[in-house]
Amino acid sequence: MNKAIASIESLSSELRLPPIDVTSLYTGKTSVTPLQAVDIYLSELLRLKTDKQNFIRRRRAGLPFEKTLDSFDFGFQRSITKEQMLKLMDMTWIEQSYNVCFLGPPGIGKTHLALVLAGKALDLGYHVAFNTLDDLIKILKTADISKLSRRKLNVIEAASLVIVDEVGFMPLSGDEANLFFSFVSNAAEKTSLVITSNKGFDEWIDFMGDVTITTALLDRLIHHCEIFNMTGDSYRLKHRKTIIG
Ligand code: ADP
Ligand code: MG
Repeated sequence: MNKAIASIESLSSELRLPPIDVTSLYTGKTSVTPLQAVDIYLSELLRLKTDKQNFIRRRRAGLPFEKTLDSFDFGFQRSITKEQMLKLMDMTWIEQSYNVCFLGPPGIGKTHLALVLAGKALDLGYHVAFNTLDDLIKILKTADISKLSRRKLNVIEAASLVIVDEVGFMPLSGDEANLFFSFVSNAAEKTSLVITSNKGFDEWIDFMGDVTITTALLDRLIHHCEIFNMTGDSYRLKHRKTIIG
């Protein structure tokens, strides 16, 4: 038996298959036929492969944290209901390339909710990419000259769901506004966007700098879009933790 196991280990390594603990694979399974044994073994290989792919997909998505729906206090943030989030979490809107926008002041849970949707999309097998607008602009600007940016852009281009966080924090130059417009325009009809912004749409002109580009961008973004205009106090400020207590 030990000889057989040693041989399986060596063959697996030769074939570059992941090491599988074959003894535990068959424990409790009495009278397994040779065909069933192969079936069990191949099923385990497939499970490991899928796990690895899911792990890589999740890491590539670049979520800064994992956030859950359960840890969100809907009593504190009343601009959106748990039912609305649960509805969004069926993720069917990704199939229709719908967008979701969370707008409102800092600290009210916009990024938290965007991360809940991103995590759920990953659970369901979608390709996801998370970036702040600042990162996205850097990537778009340097994709031709930086391998790292090119790789990040590949992840974004392959994603069914792209989160663009912190839109409106920094004023954009003319070139940057154009890049953002092209990005949203290219995404329309084929990629879902989740956008968080500390500015209402009527204020986007302030950081975009150009009326025509802003109108054209919003036109494409809002065409198929669920918009949450959120208000309320900053959760961070209300639940501020100090060192001394
Ligand atoms: P925003 O993106 O609107 O600035 P965040 O989503 O980053 O705000 O929220 C700031 C912090 O407060 C995060 O740690 C987030 O998890 C937490 N938070 C915000 N709103 C809530 C809420 N209603 N319930 C629980 N945690 C919240
Ligand atoms: Mg945020």
